[in-house]
Amino acid sequence: DRAGLADLVESMLRTVPDFPEPGVQFRDIMPLLADGDAFARVVTALAGHPHGPVDLVAGMEARGFLLAAPVAVALGAGVVPVRKAGKLPGLVASQSYALEYGSASVEIQPSTVPAGARVLVIDDVLATGGTAAATVELLESCGATVVGLSFLVELGALDGRALLPGRDVDVLLTLP
Ligand code: AMP
Repeated sequence: DRAGLADLVESMLRTVPDFPEPGVQFRDIMPLLADGDAFARVVTALAGHPHGPVDLVAGMEARGFLLAAPVAVALGAGVVPVRKAGKLPGLVASQSYALEYGSASVEIQPSTVPAGARVLVIDDVLATGGTAAATVELLESCGATVVGLSFLVELGALDGRALLPGRDVDVLLTLP
């Protein structure tokens, strides 16, 4: 059940203080991914959320890739990597977004996202929501429909959902 899943994620997360910089409490999902049983339960839960039919699962670089691929297979969908700038060859669509200092951008290959595709967006952690909101804009600028976003962990204090108004956001564990 959902409560059991939240307990599982919480018990298998590792919190690393001051990584990658001072003041950040890094939520490391690698211990969970390294446990076959826990990984399978989490993938099944992410794939089981009722979004309706899904054509593509988009995973954010880099930990989102590890979750999006097995969820896509479970749903009979394809997978699309949402990459940092400059990593994808050929024609790319790009969306920039603000960081605390400066900006970043995310990219996809629009040839892999047909107009009208129904896309589920997946990442490990929802923090400020900047990456997720840029990903939604990017996919929808290509004519796709984002049917929902799923995360293992939400950092509640950062209120990333505020950047995702009206979106179907599913998280397995909310931390304060
Ligand atoms: P944001 O755009 O602020 O929502 O940040 C989201 C991206 O940064 C995700 O791809 C996360 O993997 C990563 N991230 C941000 N904060 C953390 C954190 N405290 N622990 C682990 N990953 C994080």
